[in-house]
Amino acid sequence: MAFESLSERLQNAIGKLRKKGKVSEADVREMMREVRLALLEADVNFTVVKDFVKKVRDRAVGAEVLDSLSPAQQVIKIVNDELTKTMGEAAAPLNKAPHIPTIIMMVGLQGAGKTTTAGKLANYLMKTQKARPLMIAADVYRPAAVDQLKTIGQQLDVPVFDMGTDHDPVDIVKQGMVQADLQKNDYVIIDTAGRLQIDDKLMTELANIENEVHPTEILLTVDAMTGQAATEVAEGFNKRLNITGVVLTKLDGDTRGGAALSIREVTGKPIKFTGQGEKLDQLDVFYPDRMANRILGMGDMLSLIEKAQTDYDEKQAQEMADKIKENSFDFNDFLDQMDQIQNMGPIDEIMKMIPGMANNPAMKNMNIQPKDLDHIKAIVYSMTPQERENPDLLNASRKRRLAGGSGRPVQEVNRVIKQFDTSKKMMQQMSKGNMSGMEQMLGN
Ligand code: GDP
Repeated sequence: MAFESLSERLQNAIGKLRKKGKVSEADVREMMREVRLALLEADVNFTVVKDFVKKVRDRAVGAEVLDSLSPAQQVIKIVNDELTKTMGEAAAPLNKAPHIPTIIMMVGLQGAGKTTTAGKLANYLMKTQKARPLMIAADVYRPAAVDQLKTIGQQLDVPVFDMGTDHDPVDIVKQGMVQADLQKNDYVIIDTAGRLQIDDKLMTELANIENEVHPTEILLTVDAMTGQAATEVAEGFNKRLNITGVVLTKLDGDTRGGAALSIREVTGKPIKFTGQGEKLDQLDVFYPDRMANRILGMGDMLSLIEKAQTDYDEKQAQEMADKIKENSFDFNDFLDQMDQIQNMGPIDEIMKMIPGMANNPAMKNMNIQPKDLDHIKAIVYSMTPQERENPDLLNASRKRRLAGGSGRPVQEVNRVIKQFDTSKKMMQQMSKGNMSGMEQMLGN
């Protein structure tokens, strides 16, 4: 899996911090030492690492601690923010030309995935914009590149313009553009030649194509497995061409993370897409924040914290904590909690935001429906006020009455009462420990 070792090491470094109630400056420095090593080992560019570590440390040491966040969580948020910024802040969408066709020129070293990505992009544009792309086969050097693009075109039902391998690539592109005009294609995707290394002849050829058609996008395809070497390649291409964005391919492989984390900072060019497999639908828009979450193995923990903060005010939280301490948590509180959870959004989406949950095999089998919560509520609503406050009253005949009242089977009534008992016990244990329930939930 991509970024596995980087993820693990970052999570370990952060995990240590999370276990502490209070975080000192020394703790932050210690964590940052580990973060630095983890990044260097993931083959992230040295300057990028240095900048990153400095930014996080400066912010973390001087960080104000938000009311309802622990200092550890605050530091995690900073690491996450800075990782996101390093990769470009927000998603960078494809530019569109004011008049059709929008021309996308694919460039990159041989084997980086240009031809495959050309097909993936055509597919993406058709799916998302109902586009009618034309692909132009202008790689006349790599044996079989033209045939490869034609095969991809057939698979997608996208026309491919080619003139074999005996013509000058600039001529091929010119002729291809004539065809696109005739057929009124709204996108033209040009597959160009690559080399094993950057050389002058190739760059001149690509620059000639650029000068001929002035593409809206010149997308550099980069193999993520090449680590930070990818940044040198990017700089080489960028010197001669107006690169507008990067497609990072092979993120499904065992890549360490160096390319993803270095390329934006070093070249200033946004990563626009990632390739996540050989199939033509395995192309994803690149979202720096989601990638940061993925690297930190957090699901979307920050949204969860934010949601919890906005939906659950301090006063309510304190009242609940008091009730738990006094052991007076009853079915009325249970109902309140359920309302709060429901207000936060679809339950399985919320579960996925909990760190470690998104990739947890249990999540795959989990299918919590909003109506499950409604059933639970129906059962609780069927209780008398006395029963809600004193669940011990619930004997077999009362349970049967609840089943009748809520229209749910007796077994389900039993299950809900059991769930209530279990959560009550769990909350009591949490309240006795040093950490708050939220922290335990978020902890390792
Ligand atoms: P080009 O020389 O730059 O045109 O590269 P190709 O498109 O021919 O790709 C080289 C190899 O990488 C092919 O075997 C592709 O199937 C494979 N490839 C391209 N993109 C990806 C990707 O995102 N993931 C994986 N696993 N393989 C890819």
